[in-house]
Amino acid sequence: MDLKQELKRKFGYSSFRQGQKEVIQSVLNGRDTLAMLPTGTGKSLCFQLPGYLLRGPVVIVSPLLSLMQDQVDQMKVSGEKKVIAINSFLPFPEKRRALERLHMYKFIFISPEMLGNSDILHALESLEISLFVVDEAHCISQWGPDFRLDYLKLGEIRKVLGNPVTLALTATATKEVREDIKNVLQLENTAEVIYSVDRRNIAYYVERMDSHQEKVNKLIEYTASLEGAGIIYFSSRRLAEELAALLMESGIEDVTYYHGGMEQEDRILIQQQFLTNKLRVICATSAFGMGVNKENIRFVIHFHFSSSVEAYLQEIGRAGRDGKESAAIVLYTEQDHSLPMQLIEGELPFDYQIEGFLTSYRIKNENELMSLLQLSDIQYRFLMHYVNNGQSNDYAGLLHDVKQLRDERIQYKKEKLLSMMAFLHDSTCRRKAVLEYFDEVMTDRPEHCCDLCGFRVSDYLFVRMGKESGSKVEINWEQRLEKILMG
Ligand code: ADP
Repeated sequence: MDLKQELKRKFGYSSFRQGQKEVIQSVLNGRDTLAMLPTGTGKSLCFQLPGYLLRGPVVIVSPLLSLMQDQVDQMKVSGEKKVIAINSFLPFPEKRRALERLHMYKFIFISPEMLGNSDILHALESLEISLFVVDEAHCISQWGPDFRLDYLKLGEIRKVLGNPVTLALTATATKEVREDIKNVLQLENTAEVIYSVDRRNIAYYVERMDSHQEKVNKLIEYTASLEGAGIIYFSSRRLAEELAALLMESGIEDVTYYHGGMEQEDRILIQQQFLTNKLRVICATSAFGMGVNKENIRFVIHFHFSSSVEAYLQEIGRAGRDGKESAAIVLYTEQDHSLPMQLIEGELPFDYQIEGFLTSYRIKNENELMSLLQLSDIQYRFLMHYVNNGQSNDYAGLLHDVKQLRDERIQYKKEKLLSMMAFLHDSTCRRKAVLEYFDEVMTDRPEHCCDLCGFRVSDYLFVRMGKESGSKVEINWEQRLEKILMG
């Protein structure tokens, strides 16, 4: 079969991007495949094209509801009708109807949680699935047991579905995480198509500041002077909102904020406005970005740094999908280091919560437990999972096991965060540091590499210094800022 011809016929593209053909060939040959292709390569094509060439349906496990919706919408826009997303958004009657007609679909997107539902699993069992895809497969490890426990069950689910040919897709997985993916999915004799995580058209720039205010000033300066669209990442919803307002008050146009606490409708609207260039800058939490297929994002600024190098690469990887020069900027102060460490500790249950849970989980329901022990969703899920899946049956044994697992988790997350901090404090070359983190060796350096190799944001091609459009920001934002900070 001439794959290139099929590519042209089905998608109108004249050539494959790096790695796509290998992955497609591998799954068509019936091999379980783990593919790591850099962000923006076009991973979806790796299951879409085989989907058209194989007889049965393709089931795609997708970690984020918004990502799933985006992918389904994009496929529908390009004319594919036999596509459906099964997730918690689908109202019950529609879900029932969809399950009755599941055999009529070619592409079935599903959340890992939904695969835990026995009706859904039964409906899937009756199909001859041609390809089982786990998208963003690094989530198996990155979000680990305390977040997405359902991911850990995917291996068992594969078995129930008769071990269909499986494709795990990711852009950012270290060797350790890749092993994890294969273990969780219980893959054997897996073909691995691994490409470098490097995005050569993205220059790294890290700038250390002495105070929060200096950082805010810098953010305003960069956002005003950089040409093109950009995303600014914050670790808190509140700051994303506040800084978006401040940027606008500073005379920067077409800015808004985006986070997980907003209504779905608003979020969709913002994504669309950003895609169609009606909005230029989005101040966002990490909830924004996966599945945002905007080609011409020129810069990603981190006002707060990411919780791991993997997450960082995912976030900056949204820039420069058109292959043009783009910049990834981190602004930080030394004070920024302590909060994320504290947040990691607070995310999982404290000793007293574990003890309280173990004494009362058999006699109280979810709501009672959550309010009695002041548990967050994550804390509750973590406890429930380990209590149900723990090795010990007695109180003392369970207490010991749960505490140990919690401590291991915290340690793991702290190590991830420390790797991110090490990147910020690197003194040789940021690109080299990132590649080494992924066990890669840097062979050659792009012209615009990183701040340590001499790259300066102000030298950059698309800085609109001195241009007409830049004059808008000559408003007195310093005074405005002072006023806001003074309250
Ligand atoms: P990611 O690897 O980040 O998941 P996507 O699958 O969302 O990337 O694809 C990114 C974009 O690249 C999409 O707009 C897609 O249509 C486009 N694309 C994928 N493969 C090709 C190709 N071979 N030629 C041209 N464009 C492609």
